[in-house]
This record gives sequence, structure tokens and C-alpha cells, in this order.
Amino acid sequence: TAKRSGRGRHACFEPVLRQRVTERIRLEAALRHAIHHDELRLYYQPVVSAATGRVEAVEALLRWQHPERGLIMPGDFIPMAEETGLIVPLGRWVIEQACRQAVLWQNMQGGSPELRISVNLSPRQIAQPRLVEDVRTILAGVSSSGKRIRFGFEVTETVMMHDPQASADTLCALRELGAHLSLDDFGTGYSSMAYLKHLPFDTLKIDRTFIKGVADDDSDRSIIRSMLALADGLNLDVVAEGVETEAQRQTLQTLGIQRMQGYLFARPQPAENIERMMGGSLEALE
Ligand code: C2E
Ligand code: MG
Ligand code: MG
Ligand code: MG
Repeated sequence: TAKRSGRGRHACFEPVLRQRVTERIRLEAALRHAIHHDELRLYYQPVVSAATGRVEAVEALLRWQHPERGLIMPGDFIPMAEETGLIVPLGRWVIEQACRQAVLWQNMQGGSPELRISVNLSPRQIAQPRLVEDVRTILAGVSSSGKRIRFGFEVTETVMMHDPQASADTLCALRELGAHLSLDDFGTGYSSMAYLKHLPFDTLKIDRTFIKGVADDDSDRSIIRSMLALADGLNLDVVAEGVETEAQRQTLQTLGIQRMQGYLFARPQPAENIERMMGGSLEALE
């Protein structure tokens, strides 16, 4: 019967499937093209100090400026890039672009040398043996005057599911290169927390699903309190992701969270806007 229903499904879905496969192949070719034809963009979203409003870091978020389809969000092409392996050249472009931007901002008058730029890394990138070497090469290429830029990486708990030992080695090597390491979307993934003590993370980013109801939901507040206790015990910084309302901001501050990111403060945006946001204090040194 399995075979019969299987065949039935086959007959019924074949045109749809074929269309999806064709679409996939086109998208893959288009993305391959995009990397070499200047269609990728980095947007930056600030992480701010809730008390002072000061921008402490920015997260680089990838966009694809497609000539016909307009701006495509990462959720619509990163998974495909992961599956096809295109994430590797794509990710290399992201790291290099973010590092160049960090140098530019550092060289601007009044620019804050403390401003850190973080880049997201997917599981497949972490699994690449060449990643660490690529980062080393990129850093050597951008930091001309011997000045060091502040940079970081964000990974989710899923990187630990695949090859925990190899992932841990890679993360340690990145940290030795000077990278700040954040555990992204914390609380949504593989939640055996034993791995936390073996990994060199600096920051926990609390996923926005816990932030959403924080102003009026006791259980969200309890979860956040226990995350804060954990972070405190392991000596990790905390960032709340996806803060959208003033009520959320106030509750989180009362709970003791200092650093936040979300639409309430700023959406991800092009580099020029970030410069404007930082009070026009960044001016090119000529
Ligand atoms: P993420 O690293 O957890 O990034 C946060 C996402 O939440 C971003 O979506 C951001 O625009 C969105 N966001 C920020 N504040 C708010 C808010 O207040 N409310 C709501 N509803 N959303 C908010 P985006 O830019 O679409 O990126 C989605 C995911 O794609 C990222 O999640 C990250 O996992 C991945 N990604 C983005 N850029 C890259 C990249 O260069 N490389 C890799 N490997 N992954 C990337
Ligand atoms: Mg992130
Ligand atoms: Mg996140
Ligand atoms: Mg995410």
C-alpha cells in the first residue's frame, strides 16, 4: 500500500516538484552569479546599551539585491546556500566585507575603535576546515596599518549537533585570532547546556521568542531569569534580541539586561545610515 500511495502522490505532485526543482536550479545559478556581480549587500543592526542608547556593536546581516526581484532576505536563500555549499564563498565575501567596513569605521574621525562588527556563521561554514585560514588571510589583508579591528562571530546551538569536537576546535581557533564569540538564538536549539562550559563563548543572545511576551508573561520572565543566572555563572555577557516595544525594554532592564538589539532601537540598515545614527560623529579622515 505504501507503494501505491507513493505512486499516487508521485503522479499528483510531479509537475509541482519539477517546477520547484527548476526554480531551485535557477535560484542557485542566480546566487552563484550574484557573488561575482555585486548583488550582495551587508546591512548592519546596532546592539545598544539600554541605559545610554550608545551603539556598542553592530551585527552584519546579508541581503541579496536581485536585479528583478528586489531585496531578498537571508531566510529565502541562506538555507539553499547551506545545502549547495555556496555558503562557503558567500560567507567569505561577508567576512571580508564586514572587516573592510570595520576598518573604514575605525579610520573615521571620531570613530569609536570599540565598535565591534559581528558576522553570522552557519553550521556548514564552521565545519569547513579552511574557515580559520580564510579569516586569518582576510584579517591580514584588511588591517594595513597594524591596527586591530574588533570583530566577532555568531553561531547557533545547532553547530554543536554535528561534530561537537571539530566545532569547538574551530571556535577556539577563531577566538585566538581575536574574535568575540556569541551564541545566537539562545534557548531555541539543542539545549543540553553541558557544551556551554567547554566552549569559548563571550556572549549569549537570548532569542526573540522569549522577549516577545516578556512584559506580560510570567513564564517568559522566569525563563529569562534562569538564562541570566546561567550566563552569570559562566561569566557570559547577555544581549536581548528582537526588542520591539518600550514595555519590553523596561522589563528587560528591570531584569538586569544591559545590552539589547531590536526594531525599537534600529532596524538593520546600510552602512551610511549607521554612520548617521552614530550622531554624525564619524567623518572621513582625509
Ligand atoms: P539572526 O542572526 O538571529 O539575526 C536576527 C534576525 O532578526 C535578523 O533577520 C533581523 O533583521 C531580525 N530582527 C532584528 N530585530 C528584530 C525585531 O525587533 N523584531 C523582529 N521581528 N526581527 C528582528 P534577517 O536579517 O532576516 O536574518 C535572518 C537570519 O539569517 C539571521 O538570524 C542569521 O541566522 C541568518 N543570516 C543573516 N545574514 C547571514 C550571513 O551573512 N551569514 C549566515 N551564515 N547567516 C546569516
Ligand atoms: Mg545573529
Ligand atoms: Mg539571533
Ligand atoms: Mg536567527
